[in-house]
Amino acid sequence: MRQSHLFTKTRKDAPKDEVSKNAQLLIRAGYIHKEMAGVYSFLPLGLRVFNNIVNVIREEMNAIGGQEITLTALQEPKVWEKSGRWSDDAIDVWFKTKLKNGSELGLGTTHEEPLTALMTEYISSYKDLPRYVYQFQTKFRNELRAKSGIMRVREFVMKDLYSFSKTEKEFRDFYEKCAKAYVKVFARAGIGDKTFRTFASGGSFSKFSDEFQMICDAGEDTIYVHKKKKIAVNKEVYNDKVLGELGLDKADLTEEKAIEVGNIFPLGTRFSDALGLQYTEEDGTKKPVIMGSYGIGPGRLMGAIVDANSDEKGLVWSEEIAPFRAHLVSIASGNKDVEDEADRYYDMLTDEGIEVLYDDRDVRAGEKFADADLIGIPTRLVVSEKTVSAGGIEVSSRTSSKKNGASLVRESEIVEYLKGKKGK
Ligand code: ATP
Ligand code: MG
Repeated sequence: MRQSHLFTKTRKDAPKDEVSKNAQLLIRAGYIHKEMAGVYSFLPLGLRVFNNIVNVIREEMNAIGGQEITLTALQEPKVWEKSGRWSDDAIDVWFKTKLKNGSELGLGTTHEEPLTALMTEYISSYKDLPRYVYQFQTKFRNELRAKSGIMRVREFVMKDLYSFSKTEKEFRDFYEKCAKAYVKVFARAGIGDKTFRTFASGGSFSKFSDEFQMICDAGEDTIYVHKKKKIAVNKEVYNDKVLGELGLDKADLTEEKAIEVGNIFPLGTRFSDALGLQYTEEDGTKKPVIMGSYGIGPGRLMGAIVDANSDEKGLVWSEEIAPFRAHLVSIASGNKDVEDEADRYYDMLTDEGIEVLYDDRDVRAGEKFADADLIGIPTRLVVSEKTVSAGGIEVSSRTSSKKNGASLVRESEIVEYLKGKKGK
């Protein structure tokens, strides 16, 4: 894509009322637009990153047997009354509205109820289990506080997967499989070394659950981390009894602020009992289905990545989720030969199916480099008088220091070089 065609522009300052680091940077770089507190739109660069994150999650969920669907945001009270979660006391973040005829509707905050009800039409026998169903779907939550940029918003896409199993063992096996898949997701997103499987309270569903918490000053949770074992304990359940059960010694743990980027939850038979989701065993007995739920917010994850990996110059994406494979920058300063050469590289890479952002704008070199730093594409390609006479193209990395900085790659090698990199 030619940067001269991109409708967004970078800006020096973020809006005054924007207090979170992730939103400040993403707004300045033209990735997102703030509509109101806790509500953001995704612009071309932001949507590309968002979709890349979604694809990483989708690949890992498909790899463990997930089947993708989309449920509706509009929710009838009926199924929620059956589980006792229609009331604002049970779910304090409901957005509710009315049909023209006066009957009430809710905007889905989560989807245990409608999916469990739906599955009663398809699951009846032990032969129908286990099943793993997931979606990327918009949730609406009337969150009290919305000061964490895109990490806590009132309208957001969630990947929510629900597992349906016959036995506790079958459920546990999948639960552990999903935990491993989550580890892969966060590693591919570039926050693997800062993210810890965290022992947490199970809320009203079960005694315990597991959160995936990324260490981050802007986080709202406090966790106690065992760096070597790569696990943590949420402050909510941090006591001698729990530490004993987990075989952890207080002396080995460090206290950290953290943000939950994902969680996995045993649901037991809480929803299958309420909505009548049963199956018939081989011997003819009827049993409730054992369920689990598994969430990740791709938008929250995007915000967490920004928080973890940006620097004083701007954003820094991993290869896999960057908006483009490379940022091609032409430093022509009015030299037509350099312009033509940069155009030729752009066409060549595009023909090879390599998507690059091509800074073909007629602006000063300093401004182009500052914008490229802010936008944060990990690989940069520069075409200038110097590289044209040297017979190649300059390749550098967004995070490389001046010392081990740029290297000249021959034209015949650049396609292979870029294809050899991870990612799209
Ligand atoms: P938190 O504890 O941060 O309030 P939660 O426990 O309510 O989140 P779930 O309902 O289990 O979270 O949602 C699953 C995932 O969805 C979370 O791990 C997070 O990644 C994402 N998520 C939850 N709430 C929000 C929100 N308000 N804005 C953006 N993403 C969210
Ligand atoms: Mg939580």
